[in-house]
Amino acid sequence: MTNKTFTMIKPDAVANGHTGNIINDIIAAGFKIEAMKYLQLTQAQAEAFYAVHSERPFFRDLVNFMISGPIVAAILEGENAVENFRNLIGATNPANAAEGTIRKKYAVSIDANAIHGSDSDENAAIEGNFFFSSFERF
Ligand code: GDP
Repeated sequence: MTNKTFTMIKPDAVANGHTGNIINDIIAAGFKIEAMKYLQLTQAQAEAFYAVHSERPFFRDLVNFMISGPIVAAILEGENAVENFRNLIGATNPANAAEGTIRKKYAVSIDANAIHGSDSDENAAIEGNFFFSSFERF
């Protein structure tokens, strides 16, 4: 178990003005921000990031959505970070997300679901390294 996870505030949440509230929720839940940046993914970057989903029927929609506007990417540090952060963001489909979770509060739909959270320690490391160099971490 590591104490790190990776997140993205997705284009829907940024466009709908939820960035500040989501960052507040993350900090209030006890996570420390180790790295953070505001950027817009290119198609090639989004395809590479979601390569694990390339055979899924929603892959094209997912990539198109993720490049539709700017996002906020971050590495977070906290106790049992991957699992605790997945609990904070809630179920993939906001219709199924528990009350008080970030997706329940801010997501629009199963694809425009406000936020990403790594699903394992291994993927947290891979995803963090995809976005950040060692010079960008504090
Ligand atoms: P997560 O780990 O909760 O983010 O969920 P997954 O790893 O299963 O899926 C990755 C992302 O693909 C989700 O966060 C959604 O943005 C998107 N996604 C998942 N299922 C669907 C779907 O059925 N349709 C569409 N359009 N997007 C989906």
